[in-house]
Formats: sequence, structure tokens, C-alpha cells
Amino acid sequence: MVENKSEPDFPQRQDCEECNRLWTTYTLATRQQLEAIVAQEAALQTGDVEKIKALKEAAVEAGRSKALARKAVWDHAATHAKTKLQGQG
Ligand SMILES: [Zn+2]
Repeated sequence: MVENKSEPDFPQRQDCEECNRLWTTYTLATRQQLEAIVAQEAALQTGDVEKIKALKEAAVEAGRSKALARKAVWDHAATHAKTKLQGQG
């Protein structure tokens, strides 16, 4: 998991509640995915097939949630891009 390196900076607006909310959701989803992957790798050491399978599914599901959260962030950010507040603020 090295994708954080290429992750572009989110054009977050500190004064936008929706930006903050979506970004928080994305951050939490990212953390949950990492935790799921760590748990899965820890389970691999135990050789518990059922546990590994369950955790693998959890990791996939967490990755899906993260992708959705990321899309929501960027979809929302795009609305800012269209309505640039030039010369304001
Ligand atoms: Zn916003």
C-alpha cells in the first residue's frame, strides 16, 4: 500500500462544512481499510482460514467504502472548481 504517495492533495476548503465532512469520512475509511489489511496480515500468521477469509472480505469491503468516499470528496470538490470564488473572501 504505497498509494498515499501519489494521492493528490484534496482541494479542501476549511470554511466548507461539506468538504470537512466528506474529508473526515474519507480519512476514516482509509484508516479502516488499513486496519482491515493489517488484521488480515496478522491472521495470515495464524493460518486460521475462516478468519483470513472473513478479514479479506472486510478489507475488500473497506476498500470499496474508501473508493466511494473518495469519489464523494472529488465530486463535491468539482462543484467548487466550477464556482471559483475569484476575488472574494
Ligand atoms: Zn466544499
